[in-house]
Amino acid sequence: MSEAFAMSAEERDRLLAQLHDLRKPFREEQIGKLPRVTCKECADFRTHCPKPDHQKRRCPECQAWVSPKHIHIDYVGHADVVERLLETDPFWTWEPFALDEDGTPKLDTDEFGRPVGMWIRLTVLGVTRPGYGSCPSNQSDAVKVLIGDAIRNGAQRFGVALAQWQKGDRSNPAAENVVADAGQRAMPPQQRAADAAVVVDENWVGVFEKRLAESTLDTVHRFRQDVVDAMRQRTINSVTANRLLEAVKERADALDEQSRIGPDGLPRNKDGTVARSKVTDEQLAAAGHMTGPEKRAHNALVKEVTSSPRKADRLRAVPTGEPWTQPSGPAPGGDVA
Ligand SMILES: [Zn+2]
Ligand SMILES: [Zn+2]
Repeated sequence: MSEAFAMSAEERDRLLAQLHDLRKPFREEQIGKLPRVTCKECADFRTHCPKPDHQKRRCPECQAWVSPKHIHIDYVGHADVVERLLETDPFWTWEPFALDEDGTPKLDTDEFGRPVGMWIRLTVLGVTRPGYGSCPSNQSDAVKVLIGDAIRNGAQRFGVALAQWQKGDRSNPAAENVVADAGQRAMPPQQRAADAAVVVDENWVGVFEKRLAESTLDTVHRFRQDVVDAMRQRTINSVTANRLLEAVKERADALDEQSRIGPDGLPRNKDGTVARSKVTDEQLAAAGHMTGPEKRAHNALVKEVTSSPRKADRLRAVPTGEPWTQPSGPAPGGDVA
């Protein structure tokens, strides 16, 4: 900042004009609609909202596959924000606000230690302002999302996409970000220490794992809440909680797969066809399905016949001894795929 004051009046005016340019409105096609879910239960990935009219569907307005209980927030995407910064200052940079002991950017995390927030310093035209990126705690590729979101948020402090920002909620530093769900605040040091001090109740864990192993497709989803509750009651720490949540997911996936075993004992894909990648040729043959080599020969034949249609040769008379001319016996069972 000190350099800004050491410049001539002319340079200062030019800088102000450039900073002002950052605030130019965006074109309509650069402004997207982002859904923000307003039902707390729909928004929490650990629970399943039971309300029938809250089930996810395609929203005709924002195109998202999401609970219909949502509002729309205007936003400008990362690429357009970065383009605006580059147009104004090709040398714009950002850096994390703070580094962890191991030299990586310091992240706010949720109660399971997953990244949900990050502060940065954004420097444009030599002027540095803070930005906060946030994401929901189940965000995949969270750090990438946090960086993009923090840059967008920092740019808003320069007036980029100000019109969209002004519609947002300014009472909350994360909510003020037009593109992000408000993540939970970081686990404060005391809480982190408290988590580390939790003596995991191995007995509880053992009983939980045994119950989980006996769970069914109908009951397995309830186990997530048990893990969350146990962590809140300090029966387990966040490391164990993460491990158990992973185990719940694996169990649910396994049960889902088992539920798709066909009458021939072979696993099915979601569309009901045999999951061929999961079975051997012997299993396929035993159940009356085409084996791998047979399937390939079949596909090659289909391709040959359908890719170059030829006129069939017409026979002058029914040939003798031709099996197709014999009256049919009982229908053989077999592959219809
Ligand atoms: Zn709901
Ligand atoms: Zn929508």
